[in-house]
Amino acid sequence: MKIAMCASEVVPFAKTGGLADVAGALPLALEEAGEEVIIITPKYKMIQDAKFGIKRFKDDVSYTVIGKNIKVYFIENNSYYGRDGLYGDKTGDYKDNLDRFSYFCTRALDLLKEINFSRPSIRMSGGIPPLAGTPDIIHVHDWQASLVPVYLKTKYQDNPFYKNINTLLTIHNIGYQGLFPKEEFPKLGLDWSYFNMEALEFYGKVNILKGGLVFSDLINTVSPTYSQEIQTKEFGFGLEGLLLKRKADVSGILNGLDYSIWNPETDKFIAGNFSLSKIKGKQKDKEDLQKLCGLPVKKDLPLLGIVSRLAEQKGFDILAQAIEIICEMPLQLVILGTGDMKYHLLLENIVKRYPKVISLQLKFDDALAHKIYAGSDIFLMPSKYEPCGLGQLISLRYGTIPLVYKTGGLADTVNARNGFVFNEYSAAALVGTIKKALMASKDQKGWLHLIERAMRGNFSWDAQAKEYVKLYAKAKYRN
Ligand code: ADP
Repeated sequence: MKIAMCASEVVPFAKTGGLADVAGALPLALEEAGEEVIIITPKYKMIQDAKFGIKRFKDDVSYTVIGKNIKVYFIENNSYYGRDGLYGDKTGDYKDNLDRFSYFCTRALDLLKEINFSRPSIRMSGGIPPLAGTPDIIHVHDWQASLVPVYLKTKYQDNPFYKNINTLLTIHNIGYQGLFPKEEFPKLGLDWSYFNMEALEFYGKVNILKGGLVFSDLINTVSPTYSQEIQTKEFGFGLEGLLLKRKADVSGILNGLDYSIWNPETDKFIAGNFSLSKIKGKQKDKEDLQKLCGLPVKKDLPLLGIVSRLAEQKGFDILAQAIEIICEMPLQLVILGTGDMKYHLLLENIVKRYPKVISLQLKFDDALAHKIYAGSDIFLMPSKYEPCGLGQLISLRYGTIPLVYKTGGLADTVNARNGFVFNEYSAAALVGTIKKALMASKDQKGWLHLIERAMRGNFSWDAQAKEYVKLYAKAKYRN
């Protein structure tokens, strides 16, 4: 099938979170599975032509190739994307985000006409063959690309080129919906009749993700559990009613991991490469991490790692409540992350009091992230909600035992066989589970078995890409 992927961040070009990992890795796995894929994404300031071999396609579009032959098209607009951040800066979201991403969606749709998909499409029985050069599916991600399905079913609906294109919208985190004041609605170029409860209106505001949910053919999230959770009041952020109504079209596919990046046997960032049969290297990584973070080098002291946005969603509210008790335990803790100022300050204060127990790295640092995944014994991820989560998948791959709250993708991937799970979202439950993990780590043989089971898990993209192909076919077959 011919799939056009529209995403506002794609690894290795730009990344703020898991969405970028998916948008970079899924196309590669789809290509391996025999599908034809292109990617369309904005050209942010940090995406340098020389670094990525980017060439010119049109005056305002450039491209490069990843995988064997996946073209990545960059929508250029210096006044919109020529900034340091993707969505905002220290003061908050950019004020013109609606302009920035409605432009992205419009230009992406127009670009499809300028690109010719080369191979003939394999048709599903009953499907209507599209015009030459038309993609079968546009796979859009999150609110930033959600105007694509909206425009397809409105502004573009009478244009024969776009008639038989179907859409899949993937929600990576329903907490981010693209909410804007009503006054900005005219910027979308849509008739005011679409500003109503059945379409883009949400309590008097414009909700772009809602538009995507209404107009896309199929909807999925990044884990089966999260796809159910978002249909409830607790997790739906106000969109649960709409999702319940579209229940038959909502599903969940767990994210895979890019094993070419996350592989302890070949990882260039870590001090000691290792595998299940040569687990010794992991010890070297622990020592390296302790030294690097200024913690006492102690082989037998359990080292806990966190790589995360410092946000309430990631469990920092209960972690903050529990941090003093945790620091009094026989352990070390490395935290890598940036986020809410209140957690920066709180943790900085704790570090002053427990400099030999906790090391705080307030930055985004890919190399250090690799070292933490490899060198820690336990990976803490007490997220309050977690659409999929990559941290626990990476840590499993590196034999670092995840300790998680039972929610979303964490519930789908971590269990008593490969990690530690707590069922009640509270500081007490977190502390209790850390104690349990510390106890378990004293039994060296038992711990090794745990590592073995963790590392044997398979979370590669190959299987997940096949699930996506099924979903694309389902979307297509609806025509
Ligand atoms: P989310 O997308 O909600 O932030 P995920 O667990 O899905 O969470 O993905 C986060 C990704 O970002 C992981 O690959 C994680 O290793 C990486 N990451 C998060 N914070 C940092 C940081 N400070 N430095 C380096 N990598 C980070």
